[in-house]
Amino acid sequence: MDRREMLHWLRCEDPEELRTLWERADRARREGVGETVHLRGLVEISNHCVRNCHYCGLRAANHRIDRYRMTAAEIVRCAEQAVALGYGTLVLQSGEDHQIEAGWLVDLIGHIKATTPLALTLSLGERSEADLRAWKAAGADRYLLRFETSNMALYRKIHPDRGDNISDRLALLRLLRRLGYETGSGVMVGIPGQHFATLVDDIFLFQELDLDMIGIGPFIPHPDTPLGQAVPSGLPKGEQVPATIAMTCKAVALARIVRPDANIPATTAVAVMDAGSGRALALQCGANVIMPNLTPLHYRERYAIYPGKADRLEAADQSDRQIREQIGALGRRVGIGQGGRLRRGGRAA
Ligand code: SAH
Ligand code: SF4
Repeated sequence: MDRREMLHWLRCEDPEELRTLWERADRARREGVGETVHLRGLVEISNHCVRNCHYCGLRAANHRIDRYRMTAAEIVRCAEQAVALGYGTLVLQSGEDHQIEAGWLVDLIGHIKATTPLALTLSLGERSEADLRAWKAAGADRYLLRFETSNMALYRKIHPDRGDNISDRLALLRLLRRLGYETGSGVMVGIPGQHFATLVDDIFLFQELDLDMIGIGPFIPHPDTPLGQAVPSGLPKGEQVPATIAMTCKAVALARIVRPDANIPATTAVAVMDAGSGRALALQCGANVIMPNLTPLHYRERYAIYPGKADRLEAADQSDRQIREQIGALGRRVGIGQGGRLRRGGRAA
């Protein structure tokens, strides 16, 4: 698909015509990754963060949140719960928290890998090559690090460097790949200042980076951040990408068409923006993964990247039941095993 066609789809609002896009993405998903939906248990292990991203409630300058860091024993209990619920992957996510020490996590990864059959995904922000290397050697399988936007001027504006430490997530993604991680990235849809043309570039970059996993979610303003109030985008009328479910579904569909065998989640932000049907919509336009939240409830409400995440706090077994029903209602089935990327030819990467 070329740029022109991609732009056309992003701007298209005719439901009849859009049906062709949804069908095309659904077919690409079926041929690329089949009917299974993989469940990844998500554990939000710390909400401390040294960064000051303009979009995120966990930013260091936000003093209105109550910070926590889970203990190794608490995280191990979540891993056991993931196994009990039949999940094949555990995702450990946090703010960029350098108090999560490399050696501490090496021991934890070693323990989880030795005592469970889980694949382990990390999403801990921008860490040093030495840390990433040590965690890979300890058994971590995958790493998620969104590049957020391919427009470097916009990126610099909303994702400040940390002193002399220049943020280069694209270089880190290439490093992660070299270290042998299955690598995931992605963007937010509708960040103030995001043009349609930028979103097209984002999707081409998914293809160029040959990502194993692609996470796309709507931008949800957090009131205690610089992008929390209605911020003028500075773009000419009609150029700003809206932060809607429909636009997110278009981006998911196009990502699936350019990367048929990637793992693409129906993201939490989609589920938060439309609690009733967000996940089902994403699953029908290209997504094949859901990440049920296993974080203990009293921590989960404090992991407030954006508002609304804690509105429907449900115990893991309860949301697990609902998610399985949703998947069944779509005629799909829950995947068994780790569900890593199957490169064309059927060999697990
Ligand atoms: N600290 C890590 C992981 C946690 S943030 C990191 O930054 O990679 C995970 C993702 O949440 C970010 O990559 C970003 O895309 C998304 N996010 C942050 N603030 C958001 C907001 N206000 N609305 C929607 N998504 C947001
Ligand atoms: Fe920290 Fe990640 Fe939020 Fe940025 S997006 S402030 S790195 S938690």
